[in-house]
Amino acid sequence: MRFLVEEPLTKLARKLRLMGFDTEICSRNEIGKSFENRDVFLTKSKKAMEIAIKFGIRSYLIKSENWRSQLKSVIQRFQIGLDDVHFLSRCSKCNGLLEEASLKDVAMVPDYVVLTAERLYKCTRCGQLYWNGSHVQHMKWMNEIAGKSGGNAEENKF
Ligand SMILES: [Zn+2]
Repeated sequence: MRFLVEEPLTKLARKLRLMGFDTEICSRNEIGKSFENRDVFLTKSKKAMEIAIKFGIRSYLIKSENWRSQLKSVIQRFQIGLDDVHFLSRCSKCNGLLEEASLKDVAMVPDYVVLTAERLYKCTRCGQLYWNGSHVQHMKWMNEIAGKSGGNAEENKF
């Protein structure tokens, strides 16, 4: 699932990237030229949705103001399961792909991270570093969202 997300939903877009989804962010004026290779457009605006529909891109209107509820509605609407999620595969800042970082990158990372992280990753586009300590944080907020959905845990869904 490749998302195109309008700017007011940047926070949601970054969370989708953290989950490994190819997610581009666009302004209102850029909808037309950004929709190529995108499966769905996420916006808070009915007007933007109408523009996107003109360009033939499937759109989903986000109603909530809160990124957790926004993410939850996207997960439910597109039936995203845990199998679809790939943490530490994509940069939340620029949507670039991550690769395992080499030792020379480690110099830029705080000592405590080097000591505790099993693996480091680096964005192939902007150079941002990630490590699996942040992975624990991701799991935490994902579980929180899952908890709020009220479903039982026997399925491989949130
Ligand atoms: Zn990046």
